[in-house]
Amino acid sequence: MNTTEQKPPLNPINAAIFLGLPIAALVLVPAWGVYHGYDAFQWLWALAFLYFNGLSITGGYHRLWSHKAYEAHPALKWFYALWGAGALQNSILIWSSDHRRHHRYVDDNDRDPYSAGRGLWFSHIGWMLRYYNTNEPDFSNVKDLQRDSVVIFQDKHYVALTLLMNIALPLMLGIWHGDIIGTLLLVGLLRLVVNHHVTFFINSLAHYWGTRPYTESNSARDNGFLAFLTYGEGYHNYHHIFQTDYRNGIRWWQWDPTKWLISACSQLGLAKNLVRVPDFKIQRAILDTQFQRARDQLELSRSPDSLRATLEREYQLFTESINQWTGLQTERYESKKAEIGGALSEKKQKLQLRWESAALRTKFKELEYSLKMQRKRLNLLMEQMQLQAQPA
Ligand SMILES: [Zn+2]
Ligand SMILES: [Zn+2]
Repeated sequence: MNTTEQKPPLNPINAAIFLGLPIAALVLVPAWGVYHGYDAFQWLWALAFLYFNGLSITGGYHRLWSHKAYEAHPALKWFYALWGAGALQNSILIWSSDHRRHHRYVDDNDRDPYSAGRGLWFSHIGWMLRYYNTNEPDFSNVKDLQRDSVVIFQDKHYVALTLLMNIALPLMLGIWHGDIIGTLLLVGLLRLVVNHHVTFFINSLAHYWGTRPYTESNSARDNGFLAFLTYGEGYHNYHHIFQTDYRNGIRWWQWDPTKWLISACSQLGLAKNLVRVPDFKIQRAILDTQFQRARDQLELSRSPDSLRATLEREYQLFTESINQWTGLQTERYESKKAEIGGALSEKKQKLQLRWESAALRTKFKELEYSLKMQRKRLNLLMEQMQLQAQPA
C-alpha cells in the first residue's frame, strides 16, 4: 500500500476504546488517587485481573488457538474465553485470524495486518484505528476454530461478555469492598489500558528492539525486558521461527509465565500434547544465522584466506550434521514402526528393538552436542574476523 495515499476513515468505536480510554485513565485515575486514594485490596485485584487477561491472550488466544501449540481441557478454554473477552482485543476468532495472517505475511505491508514495516505507531495501535484493507475479515484461515464451540460462543456473545468482565465484575468487587468508583477506576479502567499496551508491545516493540539469534528473515526480536512486560512473549524472534512451540522463552530461566502456566496445567491434566521443537532444530537455526552473519562479515573485511577456509570447513561439518540428523530421524521412524508392528513378537526381538532405540537416542544427543560445540567455534571465528577487520 502506498502510505502517502489518503488514509482510510476512522473506526469510531476503536478510536474511542484505544484513544479515549487511555486519556480517561491518565486523567481520572490520578485525580481519584489524590482526592480519595486507593488501597492494597484494589491494587492486588487490579494485578490479578491484569494477569488473568494477559495470560488468557497469550496462553489462550495466542498459543492455544492461533498456533495450536497444545490442547486444552474445556474448563481451561472457558477460562481463556471469558478473561480473554475481558482483555477487549476482539473475539478469539477475529484475533486468531489476524494473527495467523501476521505470521504468514510478516512484514508484508499489503497483507500483514500489523506490519512493522508501516511504523511503530501503526504496528502498536494505529492499525486498529482506521478501516485499513488489511483488516477486512477473512476467516478462511480459521476454519478449524469455527468448529470449536467455545470459540463460536465467545464470538457470538462477545459484547455481552466484554461488558460482564470489564464493568459488572469490577462493579461487584467495588460494592463488596465499599468503594465503587476507586475499584472501577483501578480494576476496570487502568488494568484494561495497561493490559492493552503491554500486549500491543509484542506487535510493535518486539519487532524493533532486541536481538535476532534464530533468524534474520523477519523483523521479530528477542528481548528479555519486553518478555517481562508481555507475560513471556518478548522472545519474539524465537516465536516467529518456531511458532508451534508452546514456549517462547525456551531456557528455564527465561521469563515466560505463559509457558509456566501451560506446563502447570499439563501437570493438572488441563493441557496435553504440548509441542516442543527439538533442540537440534533450535541449534541449527542459531548456527544458520551465525553462518550468514560470518559470511556477511567476510564480504566486508579483509580477512585472510585461512579464515575463509576455516569457515567453509565448519559449514561443511554443519551440513554433514544436518544430513546425519535427517538420517537418524528416518531410522527412528522406522524403528517406531517396527516396535508397533512387533508388539506381539518374541521377547528377544523386543529387547533388540529397545537396544536400538537407546543407541539412537545416544546418537541424537551426540549430534546436538556437536552443534553446540560448533556454535562456540563459530563465535571464536567471528571474533577473529572482527579483529582482522579493525584497522591496525
Ligand atoms: Zn510478530
Ligand atoms: Zn504468534
